Amino acid sequence: VIAVSELKVEVCQAVAALAEELVGISREIHAHPELCFKEVKASRLLAERMGATGVDVRLPAYGLETAFACEFGADDGPCVGIIAEYDALPGVGHACGHNIIGTAALGAALALHALGPRLRGRVRLLGTPAEEGGGGKVLMERAGAFDGLDCAMMVHPATDDMASYPLIARAAAHVVYHGRAAHASSEPEAGINALDGLVFAYQAIGAWRQHMPARHRVHGIITEGGVASNIVPERAAGHFAVRAPDRQGLEMLKARVLACFEAGALASGAKVEVTWEPIEYLDLVTNWPLADAYRANAETLGRRFRSPSDLPAGMASSTDLGNVSHRVPTIHPMIAAVPTGVAFHTIEFAEWSRSEMGMKALLDGAKAMAMTAIDMIEDYTIRTAVRAAFAAQV
Ligand SMILES: [Zn+2]
Ligand SMILES: [Zn+2]
Repeated sequence: VIAVSELKVEVCQAVAALAEELVGISREIHAHPELCFKEVKASRLLAERMGATGVDVRLPAYGLETAFACEFGADDGPCVGIIAEYDALPGVGHACGHNIIGTAALGAALALHALGPRLRGRVRLLGTPAEEGGGGKVLMERAGAFDGLDCAMMVHPATDDMASYPLIARAAAHVVYHGRAAHASSEPEAGINALDGLVFAYQAIGAWRQHMPARHRVHGIITEGGVASNIVPERAAGHFAVRAPDRQGLEMLKARVLACFEAGALASGAKVEVTWEPIEYLDLVTNWPLADAYRANAETLGRRFRSPSDLPAGMASSTDLGNVSHRVPTIHPMIAAVPTGVAFHTIEFAEWSRSEMGMKALLDGAKAMAMTAIDMIEDYTIRTAVRAAFAAQV
């Protein structure tokens, strides 16, 4: 029997040996930012490198052009899901550092694969497109991508190492107001102002925001507000999102934001049409025994953790991994890849996502995930605790 500690040393050495190559792939993805569902180059780079080991990698997978999947290891034994993301953002490129996420997942999978027959469980590497809107994981989940997994994990770059992060549920709606055009000066009384309807709703939402509980959110933009100042706007449109710590909170916000939209219609006389996006992101439930294992492993690499309770009050975002966390035991640890004060989704964050600090996070993330996969496969106590925690969450 090979000791767990020996296996962990080996996977770390394997990642170290791959360092130059992983950094190269990560920076290549960073240099060619691709938006959701269009991550052709990134998905191919990652899938081809995994495929070079002889593992059969499917690309496309689960009905998505830029999703990929493979599985390897012992026929029996627990199956660990390692999740890659690689989409970028419009205008700001890799401002969420998903080039680090994708390559850390690849590194972990390659290191575990290198164990050969000494890997006594299975590893499923999943390339999941469109986290930044689109919900690739939700679509993949419906197609069975997460079936049969004993756990799922990924790492996300951030300013600090954190075993967990507040990730809340999110729903989004497109709203359109339909009014009636008229000359804005000669016959304004003949018009119905669609923009007024949307502006009333926007203001109602603004007034409501003061009374919202912590970690509940509503935010939106006006995308169409008329075509000329001398025409009463016949049509106005916007895109809004609501977020809450759980599903019930989300339903409350959805009903309330709808009331604001209807109030705008009532006051302006325009008709309102609200279309909810079919994909909702659920809150992420952290599997603590697994998160603790990850933390212990990352600490052996010299990483120091910050408690999520130290975060500024109310700080929270959303991810489609949330949906996965309701199906299998899941962790979404944050890994320090950018300096304090650098905010997500900014040009600055994008710059740091290719830096030395970012690349160190990639390699440490790969090592920590590979070691945590070994814990899950080899350590009966951890595995049992992971399962019990999951059973208690539903
Ligand atoms: Zn993001
Ligand atoms: Zn992200």
